[in-house]
Amino acid sequence: MNIHDPLYAAAHPEPLTQVTLYSAPLIIPVTGPVILNGTIAVSGSRVVHVGTRRWVWDTLESELAAGARVEERHWHGVITPGLVNAHTHLQYTVMAEVGRGTYGGFHDWERAFDDVYDGLDGNVWRDSARAGARMMVQAGTTAAADIVTDPEAADALASQGMHGVAYWEVMNWRNSDWKTAGISELVGHLGTMRQEGLPSIGISPHAPYTLETAPFVDLPDIARQLDMRLHIHLAETPMEAGADTDDLTIYSAAAWRDRHWTSYTELKREGLNASAIQFLDQLGSLGPDVHIAHGVWASAEDRRILRQRGVGVALCPRSNRITVTGKDAPVRAYLEEGNLLAIGTDSLSSSPSLDVLDDAAMLYDLARAQGYRANDLSHRIIRMLTIGGAQEMGMHVGAGRIGQVNAGATADLAFFDIPVDIASPAGIETTIETLVRHGAGTNRATVISGRLVYNHGAFSAPSDETADPRA
Ligand SMILES: [Zn+2]
Repeated sequence: MNIHDPLYAAAHPEPLTQVTLYSAPLIIPVTGPVILNGTIAVSGSRVVHVGTRRWVWDTLESELAAGARVEERHWHGVITPGLVNAHTHLQYTVMAEVGRGTYGGFHDWERAFDDVYDGLDGNVWRDSARAGARMMVQAGTTAAADIVTDPEAADALASQGMHGVAYWEVMNWRNSDWKTAGISELVGHLGTMRQEGLPSIGISPHAPYTLETAPFVDLPDIARQLDMRLHIHLAETPMEAGADTDDLTIYSAAAWRDRHWTSYTELKREGLNASAIQFLDQLGSLGPDVHIAHGVWASAEDRRILRQRGVGVALCPRSNRITVTGKDAPVRAYLEEGNLLAIGTDSLSSSPSLDVLDDAAMLYDLARAQGYRANDLSHRIIRMLTIGGAQEMGMHVGAGRIGQVNAGATADLAFFDIPVDIASPAGIETTIETLVRHGAGTNRATVISGRLVYNHGAFSAPSDETADPRA
């Protein structure tokens, strides 16, 4: 067998020359049960092992090279995979004044947004986007679905070494000018983003009320030809709601068969009660490479379509209140029906912070207020905060996978400073619930791709080296 073959390497692993161990009373690996008094071994950009501290040390013993450099960092709180923010616009970090306002309705918020946006010089976006990305890293977030509206903001994730997808936003195109100007403009911007070496680029068709039909047909085709993912604002505003009926879901419905709708707006104007989700489904825009932001006005039939197509939802509960979307998302129904869920903060233009745990706390309360009774709520929200967000961007399996701590996964970690009680099962459950409900603002260190990129007093620097236990 060729010694360069990955299978040969798996059977004859190279001795490890440098390993960093992160130990804590409670580790939440997400893809397995919580680990008490656990250790995560990291070498290079990847996790080597995760388990109890004793098991990891024992296992490493036979894997270390002679004279290997082993460093152990003890954390007194909880270690999780780096969090995933499944919907944001990092470039609007400079527009926090809009997010601090109060509005009478969604269009009021839109007007306030446009006033500030139009008054800003294009050269603010780069620094604004990078500042937002840094805030995320400080909050323990290591990946995001970031929508980019101005090219200057495209490298926000890359500037911090974060993972996720930078989605180029496409909005305000009619069918006619889309074909003549829109496509070439899009291709130009995607080309520029590729030249900048951005790790992962996607496309974000903005919303059914800012794009007519042709771009919603073409954009998924273009993205799929280029192996890019899609992210859409969908079912955010009341005008995107339909009647809660499946009359218009089947392809043979006369409304679809006998009519070419120039836009969703035209369909609504003519009195048809299809939802925006049904409309985009008929156009072939949905699929497992798509995730949507908000999903507030999703009926039972809409939620069924999302499940059927494998479309995940990024819930942004605080943003929905500030922009006055008219109601909260059906969190309980999504959970009970089994939709793929993640959490986003949206941008500071519609949210008080970029800490996704603030939205997690609100989702916990919303789910309970809506009648969700099961005792797995904290665990399900942790899943949304990590591998759920990864899955919505197609990054939950395979090489470079994120949102989980297991052998071979990308070493993205967050370190939360919350009271830990592992003396009893009830204490462990309380600890996990505390993280979900009160974890915002408690991250003290962040590791991205094996590098300690944020250290707010969690580990002494320069970190002290631990002797090889065999010595
Ligand atoms: Zn948004």
